[in-house]
Amino acid sequence: MSIVSPWKQDFPVFNADAYPNLCYLDSAATCLTPKRVADAMYNYQCYSHANSHKGLYYLSANVTEKVEYARTRIAEFLGASSLNEIVFTSGTTESLNLVAYSYIETKITSKSNIIISAAEHHANLLPWQRLCQQYGASLRVAPLNDHGIIDFSQLVTLIDSDTLLIAISQSANVIGKFNPIKQICQYARQNNIITVIDGAQAVSHGNINVDDLECDFYAFSGHKLYGPTGCGVLYCRMGLIEQMRPYQVGGGIIDNVSYQSSHYLTGPLKFESGSHNVVSIIGLLAALDYLNDISWQAINAYLERLSGYMQKRLAELNFIHPIVRSGDSAPYLYSFQMNKVHCHDVASMLDIEGIAVRAGHHCAQPLHKTLGINASVRVSLGLYNDHTDIDRLITGLTNTYQLLK
Ligand code: PLP
Repeated sequence: MSIVSPWKQDFPVFNADAYPNLCYLDSAATCLTPKRVADAMYNYQCYSHANSHKGLYYLSANVTEKVEYARTRIAEFLGASSLNEIVFTSGTTESLNLVAYSYIETKITSKSNIIISAAEHHANLLPWQRLCQQYGASLRVAPLNDHGIIDFSQLVTLIDSDTLLIAISQSANVIGKFNPIKQICQYARQNNIITVIDGAQAVSHGNINVDDLECDFYAFSGHKLYGPTGCGVLYCRMGLIEQMRPYQVGGGIIDNVSYQSSHYLTGPLKFESGSHNVVSIIGLLAALDYLNDISWQAINAYLERLSGYMQKRLAELNFIHPIVRSGDSAPYLYSFQMNKVHCHDVASMLDIEGIAVRAGHHCAQPLHKTLGINASVRVSLGLYNDHTDIDRLITGLTNTYQLLK
């Protein structure tokens, strides 16, 4: 079957001498960067760099305008009702920690409980675990069904009048299937429970509408959206920001400071202390433009088709096993184990052939333990992959098995 990416040529790494014939199958860890994003960052850094929100001169005012324009565009992308609901962070990890220490810490008591799912990345587990330990609250874990999706009916049984927060991923990084987050957030709202959605994996599929989802917070990282590392986003539903305190303080977030006391700004700027990571924000904006120009419909249709081919070819290999019963397949990733061969050996053997996959616990140790395994191999797709990548993967896995079994 011929499935050829019309976008692969946009990614300069495939012409790099250092990696001839690169077969990159690790987009769930980070997406590669199109030239357009790198160019925007280069141009900004060479010709327009200044500090934002500080200087009155042209260069600085121009940068402030760009950062605020990026905020507006991200609000549109997420379906948020206002740019004042968008906070720039360094990534999903910081966004989730910000919710924990700027908001949840002000509400938690020893009676509280927080619900996560069994599939969460450590970034959406550790902040809640630590808060619960600090305040003597309890952390409850919603199980997954046989298809690796959060089981709504089981999650509901964990909720009681002391449930403070439900923190779940829209699509988790090892299983990749989409959770019923709208149903969960609506139920939570009816019961006055705060919701945080970890969108790190789902964001590269677009079509997000936080208003429709009825979530309170939504977090993602720029590098999972074909942008650079070092920049992320936290959506905070209107009305919540006013109730939140900055968890990190410094320049740029105040109205008035004296030695005795300080008065913070209102709105998202009160969480953005220090200098903005402008070059990364510029890169994220360029990534959004790039993806919008392609269209989410075209992106998702392509990835679905390629994923279908990948799942079909992998299913032909009787020496590998998906870590959850397949059912509806994940739209872009596949995690598995190989008979008799350690996951790290699989990844190292593939690397010799120029095939990049991830092996290990993928920052989801409790999930692996729940599944009764230590590690898995994860293959994930991006815009640049095509059928030849899948064919090379199949050959690489077959050779690995023949050699190491
Ligand atoms: N949540 C999920 C589901 C992820 O996949 C990741 C990264 O892989 C993160 C959170 C953390 O993202 P970052 O390292 O960009 O903060």
